[in-house]
Amino acid sequence: MFGRAPKKSDNTRYYEILGVSKNASQDDLKKAYKKAAIKNHPDKGGDPEKFKELAQAYEVLSDPEKREIYDQYGEDALKEGMGGGGGHDPFDIFSSFFGGGSPFGSGGSSRGRRQRRGEDVVHPLKVSLEDLYLGTSKKLSLSRNVICSKCSGKGSKSGASMKCAGCQGTGMKVSIRHLGPSMIQQMQHACNECKGTGETINDRDRCPQCKGEKVVQEKKVLEVIVEKGMQNGQKITFPGEADEAPDTITGDIVFVLQQKEHPKFRRKAEDLFVEHTLSLTEALCGFQFVLTHLDGRQLLIKSNPGEIVKPDSYKAINDEGMPMYQRPFMKGKLYLHFTVEFPDFLNPDQVKALEVVLPPKQPSQLTDMELDECEETTLHDVNMDEESRRRQQQAAQEAYEEDDDMPGGAQRVQCAQQ
Ligand SMILES: [Zn+2]
Ligand SMILES: [Zn+2]
Repeated sequence: MFGRAPKKSDNTRYYEILGVSKNASQDDLKKAYKKAAIKNHPDKGGDPEKFKELAQAYEVLSDPEKREIYDQYGEDALKEGMGGGGGHDPFDIFSSFFGGGSPFGSGGSSRGRRQRRGEDVVHPLKVSLEDLYLGTSKKLSLSRNVICSKCSGKGSKSGASMKCAGCQGTGMKVSIRHLGPSMIQQMQHACNECKGTGETINDRDRCPQCKGEKVVQEKKVLEVIVEKGMQNGQKITFPGEADEAPDTITGDIVFVLQQKEHPKFRRKAEDLFVEHTLSLTEALCGFQFVLTHLDGRQLLIKSNPGEIVKPDSYKAINDEGMPMYQRPFMKGKLYLHFTVEFPDFLNPDQVKALEVVLPPKQPSQLTDMELDECEETTLHDVNMDEESRRRQQQAAQEAYEEDDDMPGGAQRVQCAQQ
């Protein structure tokens, strides 16, 4: 393997850097590297030199062949063997550890200096309010690109590729469009022959599995765990599960929960709201009804004896709202909003009967003679919502017409100048 017998050099330093013993298992090495690398990552304010050392040590010791050389002959032997010892980018080693995803979330400054980061794939995931109340899991089958296993993403049998003739390896092409006799437009776009990669593969050398595409489609089933109390719009992330591509840190698959509207319950954070309409008799004399909750339990809801429910009023039941996210034993409130339906009309007998039981009318403070001097009026039915809408429309129309005068005038001045 080596031109000459290498002399023994230091062969304990890498173990010390990772803080493991000489007979550490692969698992021990992994754990030690992961812990130390997260702690010393430059994105987190760690020392870049220390971070590089960790990657170097891990790269050697995690490879059984390199580890054997290191154990036997030491660091210098490896440097010679690696031809001056370039090694890999410490950030690549670090990111390969997290399946392409970053333990710090996206947007690290040092990461991705050499590798670009693949796009995240975002899927909406429709869930019912029952799902969010009870928690559920959904299995979803997705197809995604993965690096071709046969050619390891090279696209060719030999691993070789040639500079694309169409773009001279730049991946970009410039096209010129004539817009007029003395006007041209230059446009730069990705080379169509190499799809912007700058390289092509000889037809005969093409990988038979991926046909030179470097990636193949794979079906994958992801199990999305919807936890109790999750919110509409909450994200569930699968790091590094998006499309793979050569020299690219794989993006994440992100599911965004979309709660379907519920026919009965409305949710506001941890609380639930239910609309309920009472007849006037129920509002005055008491009511009782059964409400089926999101988990199928039947709640008996009734008024206290002698209690009157006023129109547009709320009542609440404690601990019957939504479970709290990650504290599902705690629950919000269940609010009931009451609408009271009044009868449209009463006949004179009903009016008389009511006057007997209801509190007396307010006596008129005016004498008959004074009343005679008053003017008669008539009350009409009105729809206040509609009236205010009409008034708003009118105001907007007037504002628009006023506004319109101004730019019109300015335009005329402009025209005159030309
Ligand atoms: Zn090209
Ligand atoms: Zn292939």
